[in-house]
Amino acid sequence: MKQIDFYNRELETQDRVSLLKMQDQLLQKLLGELTANVFYCEKFHRAGIELAGVRSADDLRALPFTTKSELAADQEEHPPYGRLLSYPLARYSYLHQTSGTSGRPLKWLDTREDWDAWLRCWSYVYRAAGVSEDDLVFCAFSFGPYLSHWAAMDGARYVGALCLSGGGLSSEQRVRMIVDNRCTVLVCTPTYALHLAEVAEGLGIDLRSSAVRTTIHAGEPGASVESVKRCIERAWGAICFDHAGATEAGAWAFDCQAQSGSIHLNELDFIFEVIDPLTAEHVGEGVRGELVVTTLSRPGMPVLRYRTGDLVELTSEPCGCGRTLSRIKGGVLGRADDMLIVRGVNLYPSAIDNLVRALPSIVEYEVEIKRIAGMDDLLLKIEINEREPFQPVRQAVLAAFRSQLNIRVTVEQAARGSLPRYEFKARRYKRVTEVA
Ligand SMILES: [Zn+2]
Repeated sequence: MKQIDFYNRELETQDRVSLLKMQDQLLQKLLGELTANVFYCEKFHRAGIELAGVRSADDLRALPFTTKSELAADQEEHPPYGRLLSYPLARYSYLHQTSGTSGRPLKWLDTREDWDAWLRCWSYVYRAAGVSEDDLVFCAFSFGPYLSHWAAMDGARYVGALCLSGGGLSSEQRVRMIVDNRCTVLVCTPTYALHLAEVAEGLGIDLRSSAVRTTIHAGEPGASVESVKRCIERAWGAICFDHAGATEAGAWAFDCQAQSGSIHLNELDFIFEVIDPLTAEHVGEGVRGELVVTTLSRPGMPVLRYRTGDLVELTSEPCGCGRTLSRIKGGVLGRADDMLIVRGVNLYPSAIDNLVRALPSIVEYEVEIKRIAGMDDLLLKIEINEREPFQPVRQAVLAAFRSQLNIRVTVEQAARGSLPRYEFKARRYKRVTEVA
């Protein structure tokens, strides 16, 4: 390992005892701001807990979880912003909304101080990837009302980097902008990084000779999925970093230069718990569970014990970078509600992604899931390189599914360029009508 960069070395490498103490202090400070937060005041009251009586993360565990559907219902019943605001509306400066990929979009407001906390969270992401004032960051996003896109841009400025927005452009224009401006850092989803590489190839541009040396991804698992990561690194001649976040919480996890395949949880701005998604019991290290997050530094619109729906596996093994922050193995492994049961085998989309991306002949793919008698049947549609015949690729796919995942799938060829390419949150999985 060459060099390890930090945003705040002292905080990121402090011992766990002082870290947990710091979390408790931040929590008390946060709860002190919630006296006018109707949503949480009622929630505490219903649970029979005194807000002022909560002194630690352990005490907070008496409060029931907060769910996305609860927040959505609150906004629906109390339009337009619900009752989660801790301050009068005049104090807020930023209004965004979630992508709405899983239901009605949530509106989200930030005060100037809360926005600063977001940017600090992004600074951990950028600095841990070695991004500095010497870099030129390109954000290949559509922008619109999506918080994460704006926070990524503003966060890059926060660490002093020069920053270029890739909103409102075609993929071809984006490739040309990246090359012409000698951008050194690309921020986008893993899928879109691969798509840009495909577009560049069509234009006869070799991205490996571009100035891009770092790519940073979120929005889907992917960048911690070994074969996806290798595909991106090969195509761009860059080092690929994962991170994770959510509009309701913030940028809560980041990759580091140790490149261990596990990413750090930002325990400086969040408290984390991992639970069994079905029983809601806490699970220990090494067990896959749903991540629950409490925001410590966003009092304007906070979430306490919020069920993210993201599946993770916690580890407290020391990292080569020297940070004492816990990590999650393989980043976000999938969504709690995304699990498929294919011919009796439990499996997550990231496992399929890992398998498909290891086959270089496949350019893009889509999965159709048909539920027959409670079991999912998979149809994999693949686009392959024009130069290659379909049958050998099909055989390779079938063999890989058999040997790695122990399932049989159906493979179909899709015409070149016919499958959708995604800029943001790929939705490759289509459920077709259930068959009884
Ligand atoms: Zn590390």
